[in-house]
Amino acid sequence: MKKNLCVLGSTGSIGTQTLEVAQELGIKISSISGNKNISLLENQIRKSKPEIAAAFDEKYAKELKQKVKDTSTKILSGIDGICEAARCKSADCVVTAVSGMIGLEPTLAAIYAGKDIALANKETLVAGGNLVMNLASKNGVKIFPVDSEHSAIFQCMQSCKDRKDICKLILTASGGPFFGKSKKELENVTLKDALNHPSWSMGAKITVDSATMMNKGLEIIEAVHLFDVPENKIDVIIHRESIVHSMVEFADGSVIAQMGTPSMKTPIQYALTYPERFKSSVTPLNLSKIKNLSFFQPNNSTFEAMDLCRKAVSANNGTPIVLNAANEEAVSMFLNGKIKFCEIVELVKSTVEKFKNVKLPVSLKEILHIDKESRHFVSELI
Ligand code: NDP
Ligand code: MG
Repeated sequence: MKKNLCVLGSTGSIGTQTLEVAQELGIKISSISGNKNISLLENQIRKSKPEIAAAFDEKYAKELKQKVKDTSTKILSGIDGICEAARCKSADCVVTAVSGMIGLEPTLAAIYAGKDIALANKETLVAGGNLVMNLASKNGVKIFPVDSEHSAIFQCMQSCKDRKDICKLILTASGGPFFGKSKKELENVTLKDALNHPSWSMGAKITVDSATMMNKGLEIIEAVHLFDVPENKIDVIIHRESIVHSMVEFADGSVIAQMGTPSMKTPIQYALTYPERFKSSVTPLNLSKIKNLSFFQPNNSTFEAMDLCRKAVSANNGTPIVLNAANEEAVSMFLNGKIKFCEIVELVKSTVEKFKNVKLPVSLKEILHIDKESRHFVSELI
């Protein structure tokens, strides 16, 4: 079990649940980071007594420093501050629960410092998958998935002795709030509709990604990197009850699934206690109460985001960075009421088309450059 954690994005949905799990398991908190929610950061500093707390936003970091000057926690700001939190000496694991590819640089900083990673921040792998995985392997760093589907696959693979025996990964998807809707019906959905997820309570960005099904597309790319499996060996199936968190099909036709009450605390805890299992506060699964588990094929003509992601990762160039950047910008515009729901995927499509020949980047600098150019292009489109 991990002993000391750095939690990046400690004020978010995954971050706060990670702090609860850590407390339940008696794991100490070495460092934390957030962006703007400094009243929560202050509470977390007083409760967990980390050595370092970083707020990305300079102005908020200054305010936070004032608020907690009676404590011994060092307050830092900006991306450098978050990277320093990630390198915090006493931490043996960094939980990356920041939203967006802003998490890439701190993840790399943690890997360079030899820290194991419990990875929730999928945009980091979508944008920098090759770099992150290569660097982790060079530095002997383990990456434990926190995303529930990837944790499920990781758990299903524990008994697998030879990777050749893996036939297929099967990611489950809840289908989001717009499951069964036609393209026409999606034209007038509102932000409130999009934020109304049927089974998970999450941050706003990933909730919108779930509504467009971009989340599942990003998860396909995340799985390609985490498990070194090609995109065409990754299937997606809609499973409305969110009880089966994903499955692995083996060469002999056996399919192993991981099930559980839908709670992110389960994958968070497994990433922190692997390979052991400890008692958890999550309500145990009661299948006789649930009665039915249903499965459907996704509708790829209404929800085009998954195919876009498959094509992006198959291109084997910098397209996933472009796709991720365009999606982050488009979702942010949708959240700010500047575009309609259907425009999100349209903007991503146009941006990916524009940059389709972008080369495969080899450094953080090149990734950041492609990211910046793509965001600029999206903002010019609006
Ligand atoms: P939230 O929006 O709830 O939290 C995001 C966190 O990132 C907050 O701590 C926020 O700080 C911080 N943050 C936002 N912008 C910046 C920035 N520019 N610099 C530094 N920190 C920043 O997101 P979630 O917890 O829902 O998701 C986090 C990650 O985990 C995402 O990548 C998501 O895809 C992934 N994930 C989430 C799941 C979930 O159930 N929520 C499930 C599986 C994966 P502040 O609040 O202080 O502004
Ligand atoms: Mg997921």
